[in-house]
Amino acid sequence: MGFLKRLFGGGPQEYVDKTGLYFYFKCANCGTVVKVRADKQHDLNNAAGGYVWHKTVVDSRCFRRMQVVLNLDRNYNVTNSEISGGQLVSEADYGNGDG
Ligand SMILES: [Zn+2]
Repeated sequence: MGFLKRLFGGGPQEYVDKTGLYFYFKCANCGTVVKVRADKQHDLNNAAGGYVWHKTVVDSRCFRRMQVVLNLDRNYNVTNSEISGGQLVSEADYGNGDG
C-alpha cells in the first residue's frame, strides 16, 4: 500500500481544491483511466473511523460501469478499495496511452 501514501501525500500545487479528492480508476475492460472528483462535504458518508465513498464510474470508451467503494480514514487516506470492473490507479497512469 506504499504507493497510496505517495499518491495522496500531496505536493506543491498552484491551486488547492480543499474540498475535492481526486481518484483515478482504470477500466478492466478497455484500459481507459477515468479521473473522478469526490467532494469531501457532499460525496463522502461518515463511517466507522472515517468515511466511505460510493461511486459509479463510466469511462468514455466502452461505457462499462465500474462500481467503486472506497474507505477512507479521517485524513482522507484510502484504507480500502473495492472496485468491480476496474482498479484504482495513480495519477501517473492518467493520460497515458491514447491521450
Ligand atoms: Zn472501458
